[in-house]
Amino acid sequence: MSLELTDVTLTYPDGDARLTALDEVSLTVPAGRLTAVIGPSGSGKSSLLAVAATLIRPDRGRVVIGGTDTAGLGRAALTTLRRTAIGTVFQQPNLLPSLTAAEQLQVTAHLAGRTSRATRARTRERARELLSAVGLEGQAHRRPHQLSGGQRQRVNIARALMNEPAVLLVDEPTSALDHERGAAVLALLRTLTRQRATATVLVTHDPAHLDVADTVAEVRDGRLRPRSVARP
Ligand code: ADP
Ligand code: MG
Repeated sequence: MSLELTDVTLTYPDGDARLTALDEVSLTVPAGRLTAVIGPSGSGKSSLLAVAATLIRPDRGRVVIGGTDTAGLGRAALTTLRRTAIGTVFQQPNLLPSLTAAEQLQVTAHLAGRTSRATRARTRERARELLSAVGLEGQAHRRPHQLSGGQRQRVNIARALMNEPAVLLVDEPTSALDHERGAAVLALLRTLTRQRATATVLVTHDPAHLDVADTVAEVRDGRLRPRSVARP
């Protein structure tokens, strides 16, 4: 299932006028592919992710997730879509301090309505499987303060994949990490995108990260344009 944005324009109120954060942006990301979006601070990268995550409705344009045009959905249907089809990884992991790594993942499944006894057993198994996929097999019982920054971001990524999302949206996931740990997180995103067939959008301001991407797009002043991938 893919993510398709077509001619998306988003404005914010700005005094008496409107600020155009996204200006007729179109972007298609197929399942199993990773698109990197780069651009300077304030260019519209996070706004693009917020629209793709259906957290903000654009002024104009279409957001289609796995074939569903989100314009036709009401609030309840959008909430369900977000919980079942969209995984988000933002800069700060936002883990719940009192929960173990495994519980962070289980809560996410619970919120998506997977609450029956049989489902709970499957959920525990899936949490274990995902934590080992992100290299945390021995850490499932640890709480956030018992994990390093890189490990917390891995829990964050595993949690985003818990409900088997079609779309994975990632906003500067390495900003709190040193270069080596950041590179490991990006390599992991690339592997998981392939394995789990997610349509992944990775926002980054660091051009060093682009080698994990299948496609690179650059946003400047709210306008998106493709960029050729520089491969060594
Ligand atoms: P980036 O993630 O590339 O730094 P953003 O998408 O956060 O850029 O912001 C794009 C533009 O929209 C900036 O000029 C920013 O100041 C403005 N902006 C972002 N969020 C809001 C908001 N909630 N209200 C008003 N203006 C906003
Ligand atoms: Mg941003």
